[in-house]
Amino acid sequence: RLHHPGILMFERARVVLTVSYAAALVATLAGIGTVVYVLIRNDLNEEIDDSLRLASSQLEGFIFSEVRPELDRDRGDDDHEEAEHDGDRLAVLSSDVFYLAFDASGAVLFNPRGVNVEGIDLAGAARDSSDEPIQHVSGDDADYRVAIRPLGDGTYLAVGRSLRLVQHQLDTLRMVFLYGGMIGLGASIAIGFWLAGRTLTPIRHALESQRRFVSDASHELRTPLAVAKANSALILDDPEGNIESHLDQAEAIATELDHLTVLVGDLTTLARADEGRANLLLEPLDLGELTAEVVRDMGALADLLGVGLAIETHPARVSGDRARLRQLLLILVDNSLKYAYEGGHVRIRCTTEGNRAELTVSDDGDGIAPADQKRIFERFFRADAERTRGKGGTGLGLAIGKWITEAHGGRISVESEPGKGTTFHVRLPLAAERG
Ligand code: ADP
Repeated sequence: RLHHPGILMFERARVVLTVSYAAALVATLAGIGTVVYVLIRNDLNEEIDDSLRLASSQLEGFIFSEVRPELDRDRGDDDHEEAEHDGDRLAVLSSDVFYLAFDASGAVLFNPRGVNVEGIDLAGAARDSSDEPIQHVSGDDADYRVAIRPLGDGTYLAVGRSLRLVQHQLDTLRMVFLYGGMIGLGASIAIGFWLAGRTLTPIRHALESQRRFVSDASHELRTPLAVAKANSALILDDPEGNIESHLDQAEAIATELDHLTVLVGDLTTLARADEGRANLLLEPLDLGELTAEVVRDMGALADLLGVGLAIETHPARVSGDRARLRQLLLILVDNSLKYAYEGGHVRIRCTTEGNRAELTVSDDGDGIAPADQKRIFERFFRADAERTRGKGGTGLGLAIGKWITEAHGGRISVESEPGKGTTFHVRLPLAAERG
């Protein structure tokens, strides 16, 4: 039944739900990931900037106190060795920190690490009004940040730090987010698909059984309609004939119409029950009394069928819908009469047991095969023998009986031994005693 359009609809709904979950998750993760990434990056940059400011101020102090007196712009490269050597005493200068200086003309004064200075914008630094502008410079293998400190006479001291480590950390973070996000996405798709399936299954079953109900119902309606139509065609084919010569056809039509009336009534009851519109009109009543009443009404039918009716009732106060409970009793008694042998016996008992009313209807008819016992409460189910024997039921009686029982908070069950007979048990809660 995979090609069924209803199933396709649910598969699609399942996919749509899963994709929506996953999209929502991805959007959330991407949002959180971006915010976290930017916060961490800014934090790292700020930390670097702080260390650069500290280093450049220390370096400046060092230059003014010790180096500057000898510092001569025209000196050769050899002396830079010395400056770098002295620089080792500055604790903040770690291996990825470098420093360099520019003279007033913007030429590199010293650059012991040989850093590529092309990206440094001295003019921009001069325009910058902040105390110590920090620039982000794209380098050859890694970016660096550099603090540019004017030394007062047009020279600039620049202390920089490569972002190689930071960039590596940020790359790792991006990878973690990417792979973590992919794993999360995969998991959310799997879990979402499973959850959507679980959520949709009961809805699908309800829809399927509803659809089956409709198709079974139309099937059941078609047969009596076809029979009535065929018989009316026979009558119409013979316009000269009188009613006596067509009595059989007229009777057949009347029978089918009766059957249709019952069928449509049953269908309406069940459709209302499904919709939840079939409200019960609860009133306190004596189930024993109601049973006796129904059995009395069925006496004539029992006589007609040659079935003996025995009844034993005790008062059993329940809160129930009189018309519905009457219907339930009619269904059960009618079935037992219908399926009992001629000359057979039907026993009906209504008693109380504990806080429940207990109704049993038993017959000594053919009984029901064990495999069928589970199914007789299903809509339209009829044991094959009944179909072929043509005991004009609708197959809806017990389904209605079950609904009525359960709507009253009760339970219905069957006990049957093929060849020996059948007993139906209905248990209903007794009405609470009024203190
Ligand atoms: P219907 O009686 O209209 O066929 P029901 O829902 O009342 O439909 O019953 C369903 C089926 O259960 C019947 O077709 C019959 O096969 C079986 N059944 C019900 N009551 C009895 C009974 N007392 N004895 C044997 N079979 C029964």
